[in-house]
Amino acid sequence: RTPMNGVIGVTHLLLQGELPAEARQLVELIGQSTQTLLALINDTLDYSRLEAGRMPVEKLDFDLRVTIDQIAGILHTLAGAKSLVFDARVNALVPSRLMGDPGRLRQVLMNLGSNAVKFTERGSVNLRVEREAENDDQVTLLFQLTDTGIGIEPQAVATLFEPYAQADASISRRYGGSGLGLAISKRLVEAMGGELGVDSTPGDGSTFWFRMKLEKQAVLVGSPAAP
Ligand code: ADP
Repeated sequence: RTPMNGVIGVTHLLLQGELPAEARQLVELIGQSTQTLLALINDTLDYSRLEAGRMPVEKLDFDLRVTIDQIAGILHTLAGAKSLVFDARVNALVPSRLMGDPGRLRQVLMNLGSNAVKFTERGSVNLRVEREAENDDQVTLLFQLTDTGIGIEPQAVATLFEPYAQADASISRRYGGSGLGLAISKRLVEAMGGELGVDSTPGDGSTFWFRMKLEKQAVLVGSPAAP
């Protein structure tokens, strides 16, 4: 990644200085292409780390609603740019103070959410979090990203989570992408002890979902009950 960061840094410096209009356009193009290439390198590194079983998953205290709000803010902007309606809802029964890896959770939600926006031309994208089970220590949550986009043919679903799989070559060329996002998301969810899948109807849209058990933060004796 270091050489890529070098190119990005130099591009920024060039853009800060005086440049003829045409040169500025070209340098901006270098900047955009570099970001795309960096994303591709990050995906490839993540995927090979997951395949080797070397993706560290953390167990940190985090607030689920804060994590969802951060993702919702970004997805709202992405959806708005395509005039799509976006809405995120966390069921009131879902506890917020959990333990897990909020960074990896964000990565999966961003992957599924940006795909939902990418493959939808009109209508809406929704993010839902529901509680499926709960005991004193743990809660099982179902995360769903639903879109009203192009959907996926049943025969393509079987290979969708394999690396570099793209449902339809002509469509994927139009939308761009590495074909690694879903393979990474599925393996990340599995590394966090969960499962990930999709229900889709071609022409109507898709729901990508994942189910995951998360530990609840311990409530200190004598402190007010956690939400
Ligand atoms: P990429 O988006 O980079 O091609 P992904 O692994 O994220 O790679 O997705 C693989 C393929 O799955 C996409 O190329 C597309 O064909 C299909 N796909 C993913 N998400 C959706 C969606 N929400 N609606 C329709 N097709 C989708």
